[in-house]
Amino acid sequence: MQIADGKVVTFHYDLKEAGGEFVESSRGGDPVAYLHGKGGVVKGLEKGLLGKGAGDSFTIAVTPEDGYGLRKEESLQRIPIKHLGLKKKEKPVRGLICSVQTDKGPRQVTIVKAGRYSVDVDTNHPLAGKNLEFVVEVIEVREATGEELSHGHAHGVGGHHH
Ligand code: ZN
Repeated sequence: MQIADGKVVTFHYDLKEAGGEFVESSRGGDPVAYLHGKGGVVKGLEKGLLGKGAGDSFTIAVTPEDGYGLRKEESLQRIPIKHLGLKKKEKPVRGLICSVQTDKGPRQVTIVKAGRYSVDVDTNHPLAGKNLEFVVEVIEVREATGEELSHGHAHGVGGHHH
């Protein structure tokens, strides 16, 4: 079965910056599952995965425009510490990447300055402005269920749990 709109795709990936530093990998944990055509993964990944099938391994180069966006200057914002999605025992220190709720859903931000009750964060995604390389292995391609189609995302391992 080929990857196309309306299919649920499960895959593993290793992510690095183009020609450089390792960023992260899904290996060692559950693979990622997403519903193709619904923006569950960045645009560049969807483009690169289209038409592939289970067992295929390949590299996808993703530009900032098709990835996590361009870096915007002047995107500092002051946020009360209690609004940061900090884990237990996690301290709000400079350089920490954390998650804040916005009107567009959760968003990753980086702390640039920490105060006692609030922090200044850079709201650029940590991978904004970067050319990325995903080394992808497609594990499974299947038809989405009616429920997944109506929710607009994949369920089960690697997908959403309600
Ligand atoms: Zn759902």
